[in-house]
Amino acid sequence: MEASPISQPTMIPRPQHNISRANISANALKVLYRLREGGFRACLVGGGVRDLLLGREPKDFDIATDARPEQVYKLFRNCRLIGRRFRLAHVQFGQEIVEVATFRGRGEEDENGDGPSVERTASGRILSDNVYGNIEEDAWRRDFTVNALYYDIDNFVVIDYVGGMADLKAGLIRLIGDPTQRYQEDPVRMLRAVRFAAKLGFRFDLVTEAPLHRLGHLLDQIPAARLFDEVLKLFLTGSALQTFELLRHYRLFGCLFPATERCLSHQQQHYPKTLLVRALASTDQRLAEDKPVNPAFLFAALLWEPLRERMKQLGAGDLSDIEAMQAAADAVIQAQLHRTALPRRHSLPMREIWEMQQRLTTITGKRPLRLLGHPRFRAGYDFLILRGETDEEAAALADWWTRFLALDEAGRAQALQPSKASPHKAKSRRRRKPRSARKAPKSTPLQPEI
Ligand code: ATP
Ligand code: MG
Repeated sequence: MEASPISQPTMIPRPQHNISRANISANALKVLYRLREGGFRACLVGGGVRDLLLGREPKDFDIATDARPEQVYKLFRNCRLIGRRFRLAHVQFGQEIVEVATFRGRGEEDENGDGPSVERTASGRILSDNVYGNIEEDAWRRDFTVNALYYDIDNFVVIDYVGGMADLKAGLIRLIGDPTQRYQEDPVRMLRAVRFAAKLGFRFDLVTEAPLHRLGHLLDQIPAARLFDEVLKLFLTGSALQTFELLRHYRLFGCLFPATERCLSHQQQHYPKTLLVRALASTDQRLAEDKPVNPAFLFAALLWEPLRERMKQLGAGDLSDIEAMQAAADAVIQAQLHRTALPRRHSLPMREIWEMQQRLTTITGKRPLRLLGHPRFRAGYDFLILRGETDEEAAALADWWTRFLALDEAGRAQALQPSKASPHKAKSRRRRKPRSARKAPKSTPLQPEI
């Protein structure tokens, strides 16, 4: 597809497409109608149109309009203006946010070099993009052709300036315009490309794909907070495993999680069995079953190998297991913060999930019962089960807990009798234990009677 705008869009009238208002959220429809009543043009755009055309349920609904953000703000009581780099209106209805963006213009300077312009860094990265324009200009500033289709609430027509309909039918992710330039403008588009390819099961157009292998380093320029948000979208929206594999293939994963990438590349032959791969598969599975997922658990899995590596390094010293884990966690988190943010509301429970791996090794006395009441017990236990899929020792322990949980109160009390308990626990001590004492002896079944 040529990069220059085609002035005549393809108009697909209502009888020739499958977008029905019945499938658009009532709140998005409210926003569309209110804008239209206010005398503005209002279209559904982006993922909402793309997913509806594919017969999928959209994650959220994005709206494009010729109303300026301040005009949108005036139309809705429940509206907030957000973003500096890219100013947007968020209209909030309970949990649902409908995003309303004003049509973006080309943002080029006039011949005198002084008209409104898009603010860029020397490398071409866009710092602010608040130059407004018409719907056609807006279409050419979007990222992928399949994301640049508009559903006009005025006449229910789908409008296609960029060949998005054909790409949707062909299952192609194609960046609009010159890919290298568009990735330089906003390197996060590389992550978005991978995310959409994985989620939709689409292939890359070859020109869109080629720069992915070599431009990952541009992600270094992106603020850590934005990358954190992107990581959640990459791994918590249902196609985590496929996304992860594509990210590794294009050498983008290491730009987000350098320490994890180093560990993975050392253990290439065990790769399909790593805890991370299992955790991502299980995250997808949970989402498919409409179960909740959380960032702390995801990051606990993403950073588990670096944590273990650090602990091994520290283990040779004089630290207890707990101290070694805390020091390792500090170091791993500190290093990761250079790439992605990791807000404390997630890093604290993440550390607790890790610490729980040590606490779960105590299977005598009163502690196991106390642990059941810990807010992170369930996550820690789930994490142990995942570890157990690739680690015999963890599997034996997970098995003990599974059987313990299945008992009634009396059964649990009996299971914790010291005489019957497995001998190998694990009190934290200052001195390093002999190797034999640190490992669960494989030949000793853990509490076979429970
Ligand atoms: P989903 O919401 O399912 O993740 P989406 O395509 O709706 O996918 P959003 O992040 O909601 O993605 O963005 C809405 C639309 O805004 C996109 O479809 C695209 O047209 C445009 N857009 C978003 N981010 C960019 C970007 N970095 N560069 C250019 N256009 C973008
Ligand atoms: Mg969207």
